[in-house]
Amino acid sequence: MTVELGGGEASNALRAEAAEMAAELRAAGTVPTLAIVLATEDGGAQWYSRAIASAAEKVDVACRLVSLSADASEAEIAAKLEELGRDRGVHGMLMQMPLPAEVDADAMAELIPAEKDIDGMTPLSMGRLLLGRPSFPPATAEAVLRLLKWHGVETAGANVVVIGRSAVVGKPVFHLLLQVDATVTVCHSKTEDLEQIASQADILVVAIGRARFVTADFVRSGATVIDVGTNAAEDGSLVGDVDERSVEGVAGALTPVPGGVGPVTTASLLLHTVEAARALVQAG
Ligand code: NAP
Repeated sequence: MTVELGGGEASNALRAEAAEMAAELRAAGTVPTLAIVLATEDGGAQWYSRAIASAAEKVDVACRLVSLSADASEAEIAAKLEELGRDRGVHGMLMQMPLPAEVDADAMAELIPAEKDIDGMTPLSMGRLLLGRPSFPPATAEAVLRLLKWHGVETAGANVVVIGRSAVVGKPVFHLLLQVDATVTVCHSKTEDLEQIASQADILVVAIGRARFVTADFVRSGATVIDVGTNAAEDGSLVGDVDERSVEGVAGALTPVPGGVGPVTTASLLLHTVEAARALVQAG
């Protein structure tokens, strides 16, 4: 039998921690505030932004949804990011992707001050993560680690295979796993013998964006499988990168989609926001 590694309890615990810290900040006169910059008509990005805003409200974190036009220029987006960066009433900033086609997303990310970079998007945050220095890691990558810890999955000395090497998930997950003493292999679309490599893993982390791509052939018997993928299935439902029916009974444990990594990611963003607010208040 495959055990389900749900994200509900871990995310509730993180939200409770965020709410407690937010209450303390409010009592001392600071309203922890998150700003989400959107310049897209992409339905997924809009839905996700509203979901974060609604989750923020529940833990007493204020959320400003800053909607720019889907054909906003780079100068307009840059001006808004710089304004929010200077605004002492904003503690966390999130820039939603996609940006308009002609806008340089890397250049825009650099305009987010590291102390407000609650999703670890900037080169400074990423460099600090790589060096093991304090930073806000990308929330999804951190959610993978939080889930493993919450469910008591041993990482020290574990043989972990990560499929996917994006800047938001695969690469930061690699660094976070190294910090907890795992032995990590990162695979990608050019990896040869992917199934053979994946099937050696004690822990398999999948973040590729391909619905139900990973089947039982990729999974060692008893392995823990973390499914980061969120893909729209033919019927419109949300499915992961792992074919849960195929790996059922082979994997020792599997995160569900939805209800696994996703809620822990959102909760991590909120906790980062209140942590950023506290640090900014302390810094004066
Ligand atoms: P991405 O930027 O498109 O990167 C995908 C990665 O997967 C790339 O490194 C790519 O390799 C690799 N890949 C693609 N096809 C592959 C294949 N057939 N075999 C091996 N590797 C393959 O995607 P992402 O932003 O990391 O997102 C990955 C998934 O996680 C998506 O489903 C996304 O929606 C989901 N996601 C979920 C959350 C959450 O909170 N739950 C947050 C972020 C993302 P190359 O580098 O060689 O191209």
